[in-house]
Amino acid sequence: MIQLQSYVCGNWNAGEGDPKPLHDPTTEAVLGEVRPGGVDFAAVLAHAREQGGPALRAMTFAERAAVLKGLAGVIHQHRDELIEIAGRNGGNTRGDAKFDLDGASGTLAFYAKLGSKLDGQHLLDGDVDQLGRTPRFSGQHLLVPRTGVAVHINAFNFPAWGMGEKMACALLAGVPVIEKAGHASAMLAHRIAQLVVESGILPEGAFQFLPGSVSGLLDLLGPQDTVAFTGSAKTGALIRGNQNLIARNVRVNVEADSINSAVLGPDAELDSDTREQFLGNVAIDMTQKAGQKCTAVRRIFVPEDMVDEICEELQARLEGTAIGNPLDTNHRMGPVASKAQFDDVRGGIDQLAAVAEIVTGGSEPHSTPGYFVKPTLLRAKDGSAAILHELEVFGPCATVIPYSGDAAEVVELVNRGGGSLVASVYSDDKRFVETVVRGLAPWHGRVWLGSEKTMGQALGPGAVLPGSIHGGPGRAGGGEELGGLRGLMPYLQRTAIQGDRAVLTRIFGGGES
Ligand code: NAP
Repeated sequence: MIQLQSYVCGNWNAGEGDPKPLHDPTTEAVLGEVRPGGVDFAAVLAHAREQGGPALRAMTFAERAAVLKGLAGVIHQHRDELIEIAGRNGGNTRGDAKFDLDGASGTLAFYAKLGSKLDGQHLLDGDVDQLGRTPRFSGQHLLVPRTGVAVHINAFNFPAWGMGEKMACALLAGVPVIEKAGHASAMLAHRIAQLVVESGILPEGAFQFLPGSVSGLLDLLGPQDTVAFTGSAKTGALIRGNQNLIARNVRVNVEADSINSAVLGPDAELDSDTREQFLGNVAIDMTQKAGQKCTAVRRIFVPEDMVDEICEELQARLEGTAIGNPLDTNHRMGPVASKAQFDDVRGGIDQLAAVAEIVTGGSEPHSTPGYFVKPTLLRAKDGSAAILHELEVFGPCATVIPYSGDAAEVVELVNRGGGSLVASVYSDDKRFVETVVRGLAPWHGRVWLGSEKTMGQALGPGAVLPGSIHGGPGRAGGGEELGGLRGLMPYLQRTAIQGDRAVLTRIFGGGES
């Protein structure tokens, strides 16, 4: 049995307090434990602020980019070992684990490449603007690293990617990170932390790792610090409401849960590539990582006259999914990550079943032992039932909701989700697509368009790509991550420098805009 440790102040710390077990969700066996307390958070913050921050800020963007490249290499070199851990502690199939791990190394590599093209220790934001009667008195917006720490609170479902994508942006910006792992799958994050520390790639104090509780840490943060949280809307609201964070205007970015949608256009004929793309993506989204993706589709909007055949098609695909021990490469779907998830998902299916009929699956376990849930497709009896648009069942479960085929109607229904990470739209009718995109954009972080022309060209809507933003308004947390250089903004301070144009050019002219 493995005892997970924190990496703080340059040492591994076994923690204190009652141990919290870590399970193999396939067998329910205990694999390890975490002792939640015993970390001196004031010392952790001082270590990051006094050692990690100054060391990172002394480097140029390009030098920090080289560090990210090294970190991507570390994860990639240990890929097979990490896939095995993700299978045992996270219930991930090999494909699921690669999605997480390659997402982490790919995002680090993306930011390494982006940063390698940036010179110096600051970024310019926009051009020099004349502010006085003559160009002599001018202004220039500058972006500089903040002098605090980045506290990253990660969800259990992407232990590698979640940590990697946040680290990439903060470290490239020049800000030291403190990574809190989600409990259920913390063994993978812990092993990555060990590899990062062993690699010696990062300056001391630039990376600290906490698998236990962060209770009390947020109360010590100050105005130069940033909190980036990923998890449930409930925990997100608790963090946002922290009195110290409010009082000291600590930056907080929240990536929360989301009732994502797929919309099939009325023109998507039987056997068309567009419909095929829709069916394939929905089935993958529902079963990949056993549906435990923040971007997974939860609501499937289908024109009324196509609902019967779409339900039949999806049922066949879902019932054909081989479910079982994720370490067996014949299996395409493993268990959900924990007993708490198992109970939550089954309870959620029962709640949805009050307003929708079950097409396939249901809340009965797929098999025992283990936390195996059946892929569950429901068909709404009444598409306006509030629970369909409000309850996130974080597992292999989604509901088909009929609509008339009218673009304005489907926009109104989708936006009842209150703000989502992603909606996908499958249609080759340009007028339908335009109306839907314009209607959905204010309520979504991302709108993904499927069509005949993009068939086979793109990763599905569930994939988060570092060049595009990830996040969403309202229910989805109101946050924004990634999106190229936009992802660095939570960690940089934008300052307008006003004065003699010649001085501005001499001091700051070497930066990038
Ligand atoms: P969670 O229960 O909200 O936990 C998220 C993180 O917050 C964990 O590290 C957790 O630690 C920590 N935490 C819990 N209570 C806290 C508190 N009072 N103060 C500070 N930290 C606290 O969510 P989860 O079950 O891990 O993740 C599933 C949810 O995340 C789903 O709803 C999913 O939609 C959402 N999600 C969103 C995104 C996105 O990008 N928008 C991505 C992935 C997942 P412990 O695990 O130790 O309790």
